[in-house]
Amino acid sequence: MKIDPRAIPEGGLDLKGSLPVSDYAIPAENIAGWTQVDYSFQVNRTGSEITVTGTLGASFQIQCARCLDPIPWKLEIKDFCQILSVPDEAVADLTPLIREDIILALPLAPRCELDSAGRCPRSGRVFAPGKDDFAEKRRASVWRDLDRLKREN
Ligand SMILES: [Zn+2]
Repeated sequence: MKIDPRAIPEGGLDLKGSLPVSDYAIPAENIAGWTQVDYSFQVNRTGSEITVTGTLGASFQIQCARCLDPIPWKLEIKDFCQILSVPDEAVADLTPLIREDIILALPLAPRCELDSAGRCPRSGRVFAPGKDDFAEKRRASVWRDLDRLKREN
């Protein structure tokens, strides 16, 4: 997303719209149905400095780290804030800054919310805490492999 400082009036500029997520090269192997990033920015200029504040949002399906089912996810960045120094005649490029904020806001281990009985609202499967946990299982298998290695040597 590019902003021409010459297009920013004295009183600032309100920008609202959607960006195609494909322009942002975001690593998203466990994400489906993500097409756009919604933005709402206030842009101000002081001399050669541009201040951009506002929000970013997106909706998609992300793989649950517990049961591997897709779960709906809403990504929200409520405090996007960047100050850019833009030389004369240049255009400010927000793309790498937006990309970085989105990557930082992606969940590392998204999980569906289980009800009090430990039941997944989507798959209906019941998970005992810890025991059927995907991350726990992976940790257990890593230790098993390490033990095997130790025995073999
Ligand atoms: Zn689940």
